[in-house]
Amino acid sequence: MNMLPACPKCGSKYTYEDNSFLVCPECAHEWSKDVATDSHSNDEKVIKDSNGAILANGDDITVIKDLKVKGTSLVVKVGTKVKNIRLVDGDHDIDCKIPGIGPMQLKSCFVKKA
Ligand SMILES: [Zn+2]
Repeated sequence: MNMLPACPKCGSKYTYEDNSFLVCPECAHEWSKDVATDSHSNDEKVIKDSNGAILANGDDITVIKDLKVKGTSLVVKVGTKVKNIRLVDGDHDIDCKIPGIGPMQLKSCFVKKA
């Protein structure tokens, strides 16, 4: 039944709950439950590819759709591999350099992680 975290001071597993506090019987350390679990506070924006895989800076991706380059007659062909992407804020959330075309911004929904 002991699902409580170990004592942060001495590592004892015999911690128990006392109202909103956790108490260690071995070193008498008391601490608040609220600060005990902090691993889910994450408001960083997560950018996902077309398959739902999470993208990160430096990832390599593949374009899954022919994409016209705005203001030119160039097309980024489906299957184009793009290395070392950088995630940015905005409608087009991937900043990258496409071989033969140059710097460009893509939408994460039109790529997949390589
Ligand atoms: Zn302790």
